[in-house]
Amino acid sequence: MIRDILLGEERIVSRNEYKYALLRAQLGILLGSICFIYIFIDIFNGVLVYLPWYMGGIALSALVITLNRNRKYLLSSIILLVTANMLVFLIASLEDTQGGAFFYFMATSATSLVVFNPISKRLGIAFVGLSIALAAVAFFGERLPIPAPEGNESYEKISFTVNFILGLLSCILILLFVMDRNEESERSLLGNQEELEELTKELEKSKDRFALAVEGTKAGIYEWDINAGKVYVSSRFKDLLGFSSNEGLEMELEILRSMMHPEDKDRSIRLVDKAIKKGETYQNELRFRLNDGRYRWFQDSGIVSKKGQSPKVAVGSLIDINDRKQVEQELRNKNAELEKTNEELDRFVYSASHDMRAPLTTLQGLLNLAILTYEPKELDEYHELMINRISTMEGFIKEVTDYSRNTRLEINNSIVNIKDLVEEVKNSFEFLANEACIDLKIDLDPNLEIKTDKDRLTVILNNLVSNAIKYHDEEKSKRFVKIQVSVTGSRCLIRIVDNGIGIPTEFQDKIFDMFYRASEKSDGSGLGLYIVKETLERLNGNISCKSELHLGSTFEVIIPAEM
Ligand code: ADP
Repeated sequence: MIRDILLGEERIVSRNEYKYALLRAQLGILLGSICFIYIFIDIFNGVLVYLPWYMGGIALSALVITLNRNRKYLLSSIILLVTANMLVFLIASLEDTQGGAFFYFMATSATSLVVFNPISKRLGIAFVGLSIALAAVAFFGERLPIPAPEGNESYEKISFTVNFILGLLSCILILLFVMDRNEESERSLLGNQEELEELTKELEKSKDRFALAVEGTKAGIYEWDINAGKVYVSSRFKDLLGFSSNEGLEMELEILRSMMHPEDKDRSIRLVDKAIKKGETYQNELRFRLNDGRYRWFQDSGIVSKKGQSPKVAVGSLIDINDRKQVEQELRNKNAELEKTNEELDRFVYSASHDMRAPLTTLQGLLNLAILTYEPKELDEYHELMINRISTMEGFIKEVTDYSRNTRLEINNSIVNIKDLVEEVKNSFEFLANEACIDLKIDLDPNLEIKTDKDRLTVILNNLVSNAIKYHDEEKSKRFVKIQVSVTGSRCLIRIVDNGIGIPTEFQDKIFDMFYRASEKSDGSGLGLYIVKETLERLNGNISCKSELHLGSTFEVIIPAEM
């Protein structure tokens, strides 16, 4: 309650300010009380000279307390000390020195130092100077032109005792305040120290936890000084990029950028620059060239810290995600393969049903005709046509079986004598070739042997030779088909050359597609060259075609040849 009256109801937040305000109020009360006590003493002793001064002192004490309550600390302090100094000076210069009024100069000096301490130390010292100067003037100077009180000996004794006690009390009050402040700041320092120790421990713990977490993620950490273009990296970061940590933990940004994969570099720089401008986090997947020249995939994640307006530092981590990326790539490949298979299956079902149905419908028609006739000649014709249709269907079924075998069966390599194999193929087509007046020639080393999958190579040769015979040119009198085989290094080159009808240029890149027929003359399924291409893929080989309309075609097959 008393505090509320002295300092106002509004709380003073700062503990220091509160203590000083309280002291100022106490000193104001003390000054007023001293004046009050003296009024009684002087009246009792019949000394009336000082009474107006004391009353003025009481009024000014009240002003000091009011100003202090309104937080006008400087003004309140100045009035307090000016009043106190003036009163002390007045009494000291009028009284005899035995009156003991000089004690108060000690109190005013001490009060000046303490009261002005939080406001202005210089002002405090100036007031100490004022007290000393007034004391000197009072002691050595002329008496004031005011009539001195006519006191008796007992008045002097009482004055001395009261001045001594009140002067001492003021000094004790100041001293107690200083000790209290000192103790409090010591306590707060001690508290701060304990808090600091606690925080240091906490920091150590969180550093350990962070180190453990970083170790757990196997991440390389970096701090990038954006303006200086320097990157400070952890030793794990250097390990990841294949550097030794002995080379120092500072890297030039440009060196790091030069290690980025050319396909990832521009995109990555743009992405990070954008994040820096916006002060956002960033996450990027990119390849770095390691010290040994290999590229590996990494995930770079970072956050940009802003100092003032422009961002200066980015901190981030680098994680090796190469294995994950590889798995992803494999998955993508598998997906693409699946998509291709699905597409082929769709086309296969569509074309197969069409190719099977067409000869069946013809067969049905021919059978109906055969039922209706008794003419042996007509019947023979129908039978021949039926056999023709059946062999077309048989050919189709054989091709489908070849295709399915190629996809299903594992590679089965063995030493194959090329001449024997080519002779076998030639013999199986001898009849057809003769029928079409085609000279079927072989050009190869009779002792040539390579390690390959014999069944698959047979399928390839059968298809190519069959086509070369099938698409012969009726316009030419000398027709030929040549089978040439040669080996250079680890490559076996097989050429099937004919002087048949040739293939129009615009169809040449489509003839290897499933069910693609490039000629009216074709009564096949359009599967032959597709099977050849697929089979060669399994053998790690390839095929190309050179053809000119009306001149002929050359198919070149290359397969790996282990001798
Ligand atoms: P098919 O022979 O059953 O029609 P292929 O896949 O074996 O199917 O051949 C695709 C197309 O390529 C044929 O329809 C034909 O037009 C053309 N072709 C293939 N080989 C030759 C060749 N030696 N001479 C001319 N055209 C050919």
